[in-house]
Amino acid sequence: MKEQEIRGFQSEVKQLLQLMIHSLYSNKEIFLRELISNASDAADKLRFKALSKSDLYENDGDLKVRISIDKDKKLLSITDNGIGMTRTEVIDNLGTIAQSGTKTFLKSLGKDKAKDSQLIGQFGVGFYSVFIVADQVTVRTRSAGNTTDKGVFWQSYGEGEYTIADIEKIDRGTEIILHLREDQSEFLDTWRLRSIISKYSDHITLPIEIANKNEKNGIITWEKINKSEAIWTRNKKEISDKEYKEFYKNISHDYSDPLIWIHNKVEGKQEYINLLYIPTKAPVDLWNRDNKNGLKLYVHRVFIMDQADQFMPHYLRFIRGVVDCNDLPLNISREVLQDSDLVKNLRISLTKRILQILEKLSKKDIEKYQKFWNEFGLVLKEGIAEDTINKKTISRLLRFSSTYNNNNIQNVSLEDYINRIVNGNQKKIYYITADNYISAKNSPHLELFRKKGIEVLLLSDRIDEWMMNYLPEFEGKSFQSISKIDESLEKLTNEDKEKQIEIDKQLRPFIQRVKNTLGDQVKEVKLTYRLTETPAIVTTDANDMSTQMAKLFSVAGQATPELKYNFELNPEHPLVQKTIKITDDKLFFEWIKILLDQALFIEKGSLDNPNEFIDRMNKLFLS
Ligand code: ADP
Repeated sequence: MKEQEIRGFQSEVKQLLQLMIHSLYSNKEIFLRELISNASDAADKLRFKALSKSDLYENDGDLKVRISIDKDKKLLSITDNGIGMTRTEVIDNLGTIAQSGTKTFLKSLGKDKAKDSQLIGQFGVGFYSVFIVADQVTVRTRSAGNTTDKGVFWQSYGEGEYTIADIEKIDRGTEIILHLREDQSEFLDTWRLRSIISKYSDHITLPIEIANKNEKNGIITWEKINKSEAIWTRNKKEISDKEYKEFYKNISHDYSDPLIWIHNKVEGKQEYINLLYIPTKAPVDLWNRDNKNGLKLYVHRVFIMDQADQFMPHYLRFIRGVVDCNDLPLNISREVLQDSDLVKNLRISLTKRILQILEKLSKKDIEKYQKFWNEFGLVLKEGIAEDTINKKTISRLLRFSSTYNNNNIQNVSLEDYINRIVNGNQKKIYYITADNYISAKNSPHLELFRKKGIEVLLLSDRIDEWMMNYLPEFEGKSFQSISKIDESLEKLTNEDKEKQIEIDKQLRPFIQRVKNTLGDQVKEVKLTYRLTETPAIVTTDANDMSTQMAKLFSVAGQATPELKYNFELNPEHPLVQKTIKITDDKLFFEWIKILLDQALFIEKGSLDNPNEFIDRMNKLFLS
């Protein structure tokens, strides 16, 4: 050894070492991930440099990282034939902290040790993590292209200083030898090492080999441990559908093929790759609140975490896949991901991509899109409230049942609806919400629309009422619930205006009598010309809470003010006409109550006092 000297670590390094050993202990296996990642980077750098200077390969272009153990001496070595380091580089890289972020962080540390410990995991601790498991670390390295006498030796106990010297080193690249602490012999077990490698580094493209020593003859053979194939880093054109599907099954634990996938490599300001899948079938736990969703996060092809749910909005929680981002530190934690602007931007881009591919699918392959909608439509609807930026796109993706199709398949888009509007005066998109498709379809509110041939969307998913609150309009046409009072609905009945005015006038005393009879049981009483087959309906005012909304609240256990309805009677219905003629006040009350309860029953699907209703009806049958 020549030019040997002992140098002190930069003060921040000392601080980092101290903190790290204590705080990352519970996750100590990450040191191997860090070392493999460094080796992989070193290989990448060499490959890049050798593009213009191929003799840097020194006749050894077979890049790999090799791991060997010496159980007796408690040594674990990680050897690569990558770019290597010069003496100056070793001093700069393994004795100081270059990243300004980490420096600032370390300076900001206070007295709260527990909190500091939590924070440390979020910074790129990299190479220094070796000291979690090792009490002595030796590095032997030679920079590619340097002569064999320009090797560098570095050694430290992780305590404040290190030794550096020049050595003779034949092989290019870096060898890192860990002398494991007394209680860390688990890392001398090949199976333990294998499992860490496949957990974190399967997709590292650089082959990772482990030494197998034949106990009898002492011959060492090298076995590649990682699959070394990061499918998402490969060229799209060279990946078969079968490979894409296999990979999906691998990461999703789903047996069926995915419905569709998108694979993008983005370069420029932000560098990342995404390979995202839309499953064919919704997972059983899609509605389980505790369920962890999210993508697999890689940084530089190194596995960082599963179920990183920061990259997708909640309403796209069914998306599976990988995002591999070059701009994040390896040790990023979930908390930091949550707050990172970079991650936020990524989420915006990825969300746009998913919505775009869905929109494309909805136009190109209606059948496939319908499959998607049947599985995930309900979740996608959450996006209307959740994602104001993409509300417009999401609303184009919505599918409804409608009076046009007259079946319960949700396959009518808002664009379909608008394109079918025949009457240029129709400014609104009409819909009705109900507990189920049958109730929606048979609602008396639809009678007038049927008569006029106006399409109405039939909404019966529990989320619909809530969603519609966030969807005021589509392409300039506002949405109108047909169970709410609205001027546009009144206008629809304007054909016989004169006749209506006449009837209104004639029946004014009747209406007044109904009002007196019911008192504050209803909000308003009036005649309606919107009905054909039904004697009466109840409606709510435009700004009042709707029946479905009140139900949602009550299911959620929230108190709601009692709903007061407008009671609307159809003067052309024989039952109403019969009631008008009743002079006896008691009998009049019974009939009016029957009509009101019928209307409430239809609207709410239940009555507060069904016995009373049946009783009353039975008495009237017998009278
Ligand atoms: P990071 O990898 O996040 O930069 P590290 O502390 O892990 O931080 O490493 C510091 C630097 O040391 C690296 O950026 C790299 O320049 C150098 N280095 C570490 N390991 C190797 C290696 N195996 N081969 C070549 N250079 C390395």
